[in-house]
Amino acid sequence: SKRVFQPVENIAMFYSSLQAATAALEKVSGLLEEDPGVVEPEHPGRLEVAHGAIDFTGAVFGYGDGPVVMERFDLSIPAGQTVAVVGPTGAGKSTLAKLIARFYDLRSGSLTLDSVPISQLANADLRRHVVMVTQEAFLFSGSVGENIALGRPGASDEEIVLAARAVGAHEFISSLPEGYDTDVNKRGGRVSAGQRQLISFARAFLADPAVLILDEATSSLDLPSERAVQRGLETLLGNRTALIIAHRLSTVETADRVLVVDGGRIVEDGSPAELVAAGGRFARLHGAWKDSLS
Ligand code: ADP
Repeated sequence: SKRVFQPVENIAMFYSSLQAATAALEKVSGLLEEDPGVVEPEHPGRLEVAHGAIDFTGAVFGYGDGPVVMERFDLSIPAGQTVAVVGPTGAGKSTLAKLIARFYDLRSGSLTLDSVPISQLANADLRRHVVMVTQEAFLFSGSVGENIALGRPGASDEEIVLAARAVGAHEFISSLPEGYDTDVNKRGGRVSAGQRQLISFARAFLADPAVLILDEATSSLDLPSERAVQRGLETLLGNRTALIIAHRLSTVETADRVLVVDGGRIVEDGSPAELVAAGGRFARLHGAWKDSLS
């Protein structure tokens, strides 16, 4: 009699995990995280392969009917550039990130990916080309392997392991009691903050987007974890275009370019060395940052 019920149980299990995976996917792509009210364009443009050039031209944005947050904003990020964004709370850093991921649309002006307005791109293409890794590494309840696989549904076990290896997560995952099958939320906190970040890096690596948006975790890590995360991040960045809301000194120092944002405007823009030499806000921030670490 047990056998008769098994398929039913399996279906139920399938559905609950499917629901969990769907919910997680939506959350990962930011569909539930905020209510963006962003819809599939009527005649979506396709972009099979993306290089990752991002261009804001005369962009104007505000939330809902609220005040303008960005007024005639211009920013050109060539494909492959790593851009660190710094600035005080409320400066507009996350808004910038969310606009590129199309959580919201502009009021006017344009925002393009490889010269195609992102508001006209098929959502599926946009989600494939632009991936956001949010603060404090969002993991859904499920195994480590399932959490990585969310980067590319249908990925094989080999691909999952390759992604984990690439970002330096394979070693610690293998040492977990149940390896890739270990539940990430298992009581006892077997998966540390740094490890959670590496898992989210593996997921993003597997997704292999042209554009990566990263809201760096503010939680402080011990030095070995910090180094592991830094190395994982370097591999993940590769040749991708990256916009990083930076909270770590090593990230701003290794970026190709730093933007200091305030009041929805770019107030400084240059390489880390140029901005330090210019002796402005970034230079002061950088100095204070260094002092706090020494
Ligand atoms: P940062 O990431 O630099 O702290 P934000 O981009 O979050 O800055 O905020 C920029 C401005 O937009 C702030 O004035 C903030 O209050 C406003 N803002 C951010 N998110 C929302 C939201 N969901 N609804 C309304 N206003 C928002």
